[in-house]
Amino acid sequence: MSEESTVVTHPFLDLAPLGAAQFASIEDRVARLLRTEQDVVIMQGEALLPLEGAIRSTAGPGTTALNVITGPYGQTFGDWLRDCGATVIDLAVPFHTAVTAAQIAAAFEEHPAIDFVSLVHAEAATGNTNPVAEIGEVVRRQGALFYLDAVASVGAEPVLPDAWGVDLCVIGAQKAMGGPAGVSAVSVSERAWARMAANPKAPRRSYLSLLDWKERWIDGGRKALLHAPAQLEMLALEACVERIEADGLDAVMGRHRAAAAATRAGARALGGGLEPYVHEDREAAPAATTLRAPSGVAASELVTRALSCDPALPLAAGGGALAKEMIRVNHYGVDATLGAVRASLAALGAALREKGIAADVESALRAAEDAWR
Ligand SMILES: *Cc1c(COP(=O)(O)O)cnc(C)c1O
Repeated sequence: MSEESTVVTHPFLDLAPLGAAQFASIEDRVARLLRTEQDVVIMQGEALLPLEGAIRSTAGPGTTALNVITGPYGQTFGDWLRDCGATVIDLAVPFHTAVTAAQIAAAFEEHPAIDFVSLVHAEAATGNTNPVAEIGEVVRRQGALFYLDAVASVGAEPVLPDAWGVDLCVIGAQKAMGGPAGVSAVSVSERAWARMAANPKAPRRSYLSLLDWKERWIDGGRKALLHAPAQLEMLALEACVERIEADGLDAVMGRHRAAAAATRAGARALGGGLEPYVHEDREAAPAATTLRAPSGVAASELVTRALSCDPALPLAAGGGALAKEMIRVNHYGVDATLGAVRASLAALGAALREKGIAADVESALRAAEDAWR
């Protein structure tokens, strides 16, 4: 070995440091995507980090929380809220529907002490989407703090925290934004900051802390970062927002809406007992479509057969007990295309036929193409 041994540079590893100015500029771009004037805090982890951090920062023993459950995430939020000492009122609706603003209003009437509402906008795991604009009006009238998980909706349908009165709006880039899973963001209203400041149990000097970012980053004019940023993820987030800006957010959302419509129409035309899991089109999430397997056929088995033809298809069985009956078509991000929808329907049709069930693949593909337009 010579004295001057060299290091071979690597495109992912040998990056120039990511400074505060670039970090702040990425936050500003995310804020523009959400059309929000609120503070946007980017957090250095998957979306569960701000989801948990926002609850632990704002909820405590004095909180009465209405926790809306339209899928597995609502369940998790209820567990965190109870762990914080909040009184939790669970409002669970069947996974094949959405919650209505009238149901929220009825819950307020029955429990006037509610001062916190947690809601998942769209659930990739169950395929439904909730009418946040209408719900936001009801929540505002009650004066409750409004916490929203928009991880599976951002990029697929409008997410407008300011217009809807959302106080804590959490997003992740890994679904319809087509970006990285390792960073996430939350927009925080003045009311939410005040609630945190008044909460003695809000995480401080902690990775879960939002207040640390307020006090040491935002209030200081975003000049110095709290710790070394997750540089690869930040660059990936910047690239993914840049790509959405270049394509146009409306076009990106339009592709997701078309993919959902095409998948639902295609599944109905395929026959064989396969049908959209969420009954009403307007309650179906644009990011991902769930289908009900024919009775007597395990959804997980159909998915395994379909994936054996092409493992790259965006298909999965439902989680936990839903694996028996639910097929997920995850047509988000790069898979929000007619090609991915067509290939998924064809593979599901072939899997049904292997089980001896008649499936009309040609009609399904035609119906999908018509609905895409
Ligand atoms: C996908 C998703 C998340 C993030 O969870 P991952 O399983 O890590 O992708 C959070 N909330 C909702 C509603 C989601 O759909």
